[in-house]
Amino acid sequence: MKFTRREILAQIGLLAAAAEAAPGAAPGPASGNSPSAASRKDAPLHGTLVWDDHSGFGPTPDYNLEHLEDWRQAGVDYLSIDVGYDVIDWTQAVRNLGAYITWLEQRPERFLLVRRADDVLEAKKTGRMAITFDLEGMSALNGDSSLVSLYYRLGVRQMLTAYNKNNLAGGGCHDQDTGLTAFGRRVIAEMNRVGMLVDCSHTGYRTTMDIMETATQPVIFSHSNPKQLRRHGRNITDDQIRACARTGGVIGVTGLGYYLPDRASTVVALADCVSYVRDLVGPDHVGLGLDYSPVDSNDVAEFDALSGAKPDFWPPADYAAPWAMQDATPRVFAQLAALLHERGWSEADVRKVLGENFLRVARAVWK
Ligand SMILES: [Zn+2]
Repeated sequence: MKFTRREILAQIGLLAAAAEAAPGAAPGPASGNSPSAASRKDAPLHGTLVWDDHSGFGPTPDYNLEHLEDWRQAGVDYLSIDVGYDVIDWTQAVRNLGAYITWLEQRPERFLLVRRADDVLEAKKTGRMAITFDLEGMSALNGDSSLVSLYYRLGVRQMLTAYNKNNLAGGGCHDQDTGLTAFGRRVIAEMNRVGMLVDCSHTGYRTTMDIMETATQPVIFSHSNPKQLRRHGRNITDDQIRACARTGGVIGVTGLGYYLPDRASTVVALADCVSYVRDLVGPDHVGLGLDYSPVDSNDVAEFDALSGAKPDFWPPADYAAPWAMQDATPRVFAQLAALLHERGWSEADVRKVLGENFLRVARAVWK
């Protein structure tokens, strides 16, 4: 995820009232009906289910969710919105949930907070975008596995173990990973019990392999790319991809520039990543989680401010600019579908990658 300076300051506690920092920069919550939202331009996708398994907001309670129109207008049917990550205090994740649920419930003509997987299809049928939430790191539990069930009731449908850095539950991908802890094992068991998807993105290699041995339900990487195509601490090895597929899970290829291989364009880089995963483990185990942030999504300077303030979460070796590729926007779904067809992919396989694989896993795990 990337952030505006305003979001960064709010998150790391350097600014009490974020809204004051940038007068005029943050339109307040708009009232119910946005005229621009009347219709969705999803014709190029021909009715294909489009599932984006992870957004990259800098989650704050006053985040302007009108930006969700970027996804809706691109024909995206489902989005998992990140509401917390290990960098921020768990209480802010709860405040984010309160604010986002309230905002979404006031706009039922455009959005549907879904509980079951088939609700996603219901939302699509009625021209609305389906939404659930995700947490990036088990610090959101404040050491208490009983919060899993509470978050689930609030609409959180997936959670990863450790965001880049070690926490109480396990190791992060940019840290000395010592594996899944006893607390982490309790949390995974509780997630399997309540039906919350276990996500391995951002988590250290050893911890992910422990998780995939322990979990009794399909496991996902919501937004991670093959390390063989781009050497980056956040990307994942063939071992991890194979282990995920063995659980029946899905690897969500992600669209941020620094995780993408150097190619002629972002859509080509994404097509190469999904093709790589398909060739390794078959067409049933690959999807997309773009990690797109609508605000300043290509603003290198803003991200540098946050990563510079927290080098233990974002080691400069992995995040120092420049990198070759631009971030993907939700418009890439239609471009990617066209490119995969051009490359000779079957209609059925394109549909799996764009959404049906993640739908299958959600059907198997959510309750
Ligand atoms: Zn992330």
